Amino acid sequence: MNIIVCAKQVVDISEMKIDNSTNKPILSGLNKKVNEIDKNAVEEAIKIKDANGGKITVLTVGEADAKERMKELLAMGADEGILINPPENMDYAMLTNILAGAIRKIDGFDLIICGEASTDMFSGQVGPRIAGILDLPQITYAQKITVEKDKINAERNLGDMVVTMESPYPVLVSVTKEINEPRLPSLMQILSSASKPIQDWTIESLDVIVESKVKTIDLQGVSTDRKNIIYKDDSEDNIQKLVDNLAKDGVLR
Ligand SMILES: Cc1cc2nc3c(=O)[nH]c(=O)nc-3n(C[C@H](O)[C@H](O)[C@H](O)COP(=O)(O)OP(=O)(O)OC[C@H]3O[C@@H](n4cnc5c(N)ncnc54)[C@H](O)[C@@H]3O)c2cc1C
Repeated sequence: MNIIVCAKQVVDISEMKIDNSTNKPILSGLNKKVNEIDKNAVEEAIKIKDANGGKITVLTVGEADAKERMKELLAMGADEGILINPPENMDYAMLTNILAGAIRKIDGFDLIICGEASTDMFSGQVGPRIAGILDLPQITYAQKITVEKDKINAERNLGDMVVTMESPYPVLVSVTKEINEPRLPSLMQILSSASKPIQDWTIESLDVIVESKVKTIDLQGVSTDRKNIIYKDDSEDNIQKLVDNLAKDGVLR
């Protein structure tokens, strides 16, 4: 089973502050990390590999410093990494053309796993777009995957219902956070990951058209003013007031 996991390096938005004078998020100096759900994607790939054999390739479009984060995924159990430096003004179409071009170049893959969405941009477009470009079947929002010899079976989490689907290989699956608990690599695994390869590929080597179509015009923080209503005890009266206020704000119906 040859598995490709698309993993993004994101800024740690839990550290992000908003500049009060401009209302813009302050992005400089923020720590970077692996998109959390992409660790779930790698964990699932490792489980599949452990049961069926094969190889796991982690694919990232990101700046050179993404290599440090990719090493965490190699320490978890992925076999190799491929890092592609992004072009200027990369939009979703460019990114997914680059990822699809790199996947085409990887020989004989069976399964591509993406996260359902990234924690910073959260468009949820990348997996479905790659499947579209490569003309592959796709199963999105998988919360459980069962791998069989000729097909994959996945439970899709649709919020208020679960849909079970199956597909032959090759197939692209996007996973949710609920699918598993990513492992923490041991010290030995961290040390031995240093010998696992991370190749640098250039966009020129991929034979893809990279043309920007969507521009980010502005980026504004959303202010979350608190109402500071405090209910001092859990009397019937206060509980009723809380319920009424939540209903008034549209939280409860
Ligand atoms: C270095 C860099 C520079 C950028 N510059 C610009 C810019 O100038 N203008 C602009 O509008 N946008 C820019 N972007 C954003 C970019 O175009 C995409 O919008 C974004 O990377 C993907 O959208 P998303 O995070 O909403 O993906 P989602 O669809 O929410 O992510 C779902 C899944 O797709 C996969 N994935 C997503 N991104 C990557 C990636 N980079 N590598 C590997 N797998 C991935 C992961 O599996 C992830 O879990 C930049 C992104 C990067 C990494």
